Amino acid sequence: MKLAVVSGAPEARAADLLAYAVSPAPKGDANKAQTNKGAKPPAKKSSSKGGWVPEGLQVVDAALGGLLAETIAAEGFAGSPGQTLSLHTHGKLAATRLLLVGVGDLESLGPDGIRRYAGTATKVAERHKAARLTLVIPEGEPVRLEVAVQAAAEGAQLARYRFSKYLTKDSTTSTVTSVELAIKGRAKLDQALARAAAVSDGVALARDLVNEPPATLTPVEFAKRAEAAGKASGFKVSITDEQGLAREKMGLMLAVAKAAMPYTPPRLVRLEYSPRGKAKKHICLVGKGLTFDSGGLDIKPADGMLDMKVDMSGAAAVLGAMVAIARIKPDVKVTGYLGCVENGIGGNAYHPGDILTSRKGLTVEINNTDAEGRLVLADCIDYAITKDKPDLLIDLATLTGACMIALGPTTAGVFTEDDALAADIRTIGARQGEDFWRLPLNDDLKGQLKSPIADTKNTGTRMGGAITAALFLKMFVDGRVPWAHIDLAGPATSDKDTDYGTRGGTGFAVRTLVGLIDPR
Ligand SMILES: [Zn+2]
Repeated sequence: MKLAVVSGAPEARAADLLAYAVSPAPKGDANKAQTNKGAKPPAKKSSSKGGWVPEGLQVVDAALGGLLAETIAAEGFAGSPGQTLSLHTHGKLAATRLLLVGVGDLESLGPDGIRRYAGTATKVAERHKAARLTLVIPEGEPVRLEVAVQAAAEGAQLARYRFSKYLTKDSTTSTVTSVELAIKGRAKLDQALARAAAVSDGVALARDLVNEPPATLTPVEFAKRAEAAGKASGFKVSITDEQGLAREKMGLMLAVAKAAMPYTPPRLVRLEYSPRGKAKKHICLVGKGLTFDSGGLDIKPADGMLDMKVDMSGAAAVLGAMVAIARIKPDVKVTGYLGCVENGIGGNAYHPGDILTSRKGLTVEINNTDAEGRLVLADCIDYAITKDKPDLLIDLATLTGACMIALGPTTAGVFTEDDALAADIRTIGARQGEDFWRLPLNDDLKGQLKSPIADTKNTGTRMGGAITAALFLKMFVDGRVPWAHIDLAGPATSDKDTDYGTRGGTGFAVRTLVGLIDPR
């Protein structure tokens, strides 16, 4: 897709669709108010009927001979958030069609509001089979121009995403092939566009991986895709196979993997990005990459197994973030680990009752083979800490249904003892349109993991299941590095299309990780 920043009067741009973000009509005045907050009346009377026209669009209404005000009144458009109005310009503007997108109060519109506006406009453009889209960028506080341009560019690119490779008929690609971002003055914004492209490509890769069927995206294939991504984006990739895992004594990860071997052996994938100069710090990301989770011998019921190809969403987020980071090149060293395993039910499956020895040395009594993600993560976390000694380690996993029960399907749980980090993740996430909520690492629940015959069990009771999973991981971090655990079981996928998302994998956490590593 072609993407460019243009300046000057947007209403003079030739396009198939010209889009504006608008504030709601003043209260109780949707069809009457002419001015807003004492603003100067427009130079030209905007409409013979004097109906409401959003601020800044009077000149467009005048060019249309009052058609905009009339349509707004006729259709009861109030500019409420999410509401759209599109009309044909009948040759009176250079653009064929005009679109207004209600976004709430423009004066408090954050980056994600702009991303959503751009996504909505792109999807409306697709409905009208438009190829050329001009997005008028809302300018002013509270968002800097380059941030606004980046967010709009991301919204448009993310909204065009499709997973259509398996559709033999009706294979769809977006009709939108060129997007202009119209700004008032002139500014050099190449960097913002490049950053948006890097982030959007990272999110698209994460979505692709989540959407792939499990027979295609095996651990071996996941590792291959990581290698390809590293080659394309410029980060190092090294892969450890099952023999390597055995040499590393990664007894938990291997035990989970055994049931699916030899057909789908596990892979531990290490990704490394190093800045040219001296790194300010070193952040390590560890992702759970269960390419399919049957539950193991504690097999899941059919309904519960249906979506289990998505159990690698944490690893997908780590790889997607690395793609963006390697292209943005922050002064931070970032290493990523993908723990790629299938939890199968073959004859070598580990049993409930088994006692496994972890890489760290702790022994684990298995009381549920479906709590396999934390086993894989525990060994990967220990490996990452001893190999890399990072300044901060964040693990990401579709870890527990309990987290979804607690927070709903669109919010990720954050567990950390670092108050500032928890606040940062939430604030940066909000700017990225990704919702995080902190849950307690309540040590009182640790008793649930107590085993009479091993150092720990792998699960607790149903009460506080997301918390006991985090407490289990905490034992393997063991205070050696600052750490946060993110449970994204809910928001990793969506069951419906959204402003700039599609049903299926969301690529959740890619943008927040990039924002956390390279804030701006
Ligand atoms: Zn499981």
